[in-house]
Amino acid sequence: MPFRFFAAMGLLAVLANLAWAATYTVAADPSSREAVVEVEIDGAPSKEFRMPAWAPGDYRIVNFGSRLSNVKFFLNGEEVQSETGADPNSWTIAAGADRVTYRVPSRTSIFTEDLRVSANEMFFNGPAVLGWFAGRQNEKHTLRVALAPAGAVAYCALDPVDSPDPKFAMYTAPDYDTLIDAPVVVGTAIRAKEFTVHGKPHYIVAFNRASNFDLDPWASAATRVIQETARIFGELPYKRYMFLFDIGGPGGGLEHASSTRMALRTNATVHSSIEFLAHEFVHTFNVKRIRPKPFAPYDYTKPAMTGALWWLEGVTDYYARIICVRAGLKGRAETLNSFGRDMFLLSQQSRRFQVSADESSRRVWEANNSAGFGIDYYLKGGLIGLMLDLAIRAETKGERSLDDVMLALYNESKDGRVGFSETRIRELCVLFGGSALGDIYDEAVLRAVEMPWQQVLPRFGLSYDRGRLQDDPFANPDAMMLAQGWPYRTP
Ligand SMILES: [Zn+2]
Repeated sequence: MPFRFFAAMGLLAVLANLAWAATYTVAADPSSREAVVEVEIDGAPSKEFRMPAWAPGDYRIVNFGSRLSNVKFFLNGEEVQSETGADPNSWTIAAGADRVTYRVPSRTSIFTEDLRVSANEMFFNGPAVLGWFAGRQNEKHTLRVALAPAGAVAYCALDPVDSPDPKFAMYTAPDYDTLIDAPVVVGTAIRAKEFTVHGKPHYIVAFNRASNFDLDPWASAATRVIQETARIFGELPYKRYMFLFDIGGPGGGLEHASSTRMALRTNATVHSSIEFLAHEFVHTFNVKRIRPKPFAPYDYTKPAMTGALWWLEGVTDYYARIICVRAGLKGRAETLNSFGRDMFLLSQQSRRFQVSADESSRRVWEANNSAGFGIDYYLKGGLIGLMLDLAIRAETKGERSLDDVMLALYNESKDGRVGFSETRIRELCVLFGGSALGDIYDEAVLRAVEMPWQQVLPRFGLSYDRGRLQDDPFANPDAMMLAQGWPYRTP
């Protein structure tokens, strides 16, 4: 019976795959402020071990391999020799190895702490700490985190599993990509609040200097942000979600598939920082699921160049702001005003006549930051989001909006499907907004020219003057009605 035979072979293959696994153990050494890491594989030994050259969300070559010390490889319990080549992220083990141990020092990056070890706490972001044995990325990965000092608890958005050793918290991931996309915090002074949205558990996890941080208002504001975001996408694409609040910590925020790590001041309020939270949460969809082809899958060994960072960062920021208005957490007029300020800021950047949003996105790897070429793709990207949204609403008399483009991109990219091609956003804008959107897109995204506001704003019942974007009292009634519909959902 061929069917049964093949079914049995398939089952054997699955069992073999399940039997092969990689196990990672991470423990803090507070005396040196280092993490002590062990990676073990069973099954066939590997001849190469690598660390990522960069971390998703932070588009710069960092070479995490260059930070490791005390790197030792083993095969069947015996230490074996390794060689490092020109690539600082790669080790070659001629005899093959089934285990490596190494140390990683505490260090902060632009958007996140890569690793921070203190007397009673450890936080780490996967790419800075966890490497991989070549050929072994796609099997089951287990993460063991040492619960130290006594009384420590751990938080990580990966699937938890029972640990046979109570001194460790244990998690499982289907592959290396998932493993390193879930930062971990472990310590004795972490404060957490669980809340449920659409039947799924969510957590505010506050650490670092969290002793006086009031979690309750954050949980209720986050609930409203999550609900409004789910209205756009129709679902929440994870089992659980964790907002990891690094209170008093350095850097900004970094998005992950089912969590985010955000640095918040000790006196941060919902009003001051809810758009920041919404930005990181929108990334759960836009960046973590809606991905351009160079991100699907990620290649951690070299730059993943895309012209779409204006969409992935700037339009994420646009959505963060309008979701807060829809959720009743920010006012419509104050949000219009903040876009007006951004229009003024962009008008002060003379490089807007030399560098397009597309080029600024592509060249971030050379520039080492989002504004290195004189045009910040966060700033201009947010304004492009506003412009495309207004134009689609105007062209369709308020029947469609940028939400339709966002949802279509999501449906094409989610569930591990291939990423979007560089021309897809333009195609979808034209599909939902009509042919006029093509020229608007080209001028706003691809060309280094003034954004075509004069073409869009008057038809929409908005006026702009020296940093002020507001409802135009002289607009015709249709245009006024369109403006009043912004930024709410279309019927
Ligand atoms: Zn972002």
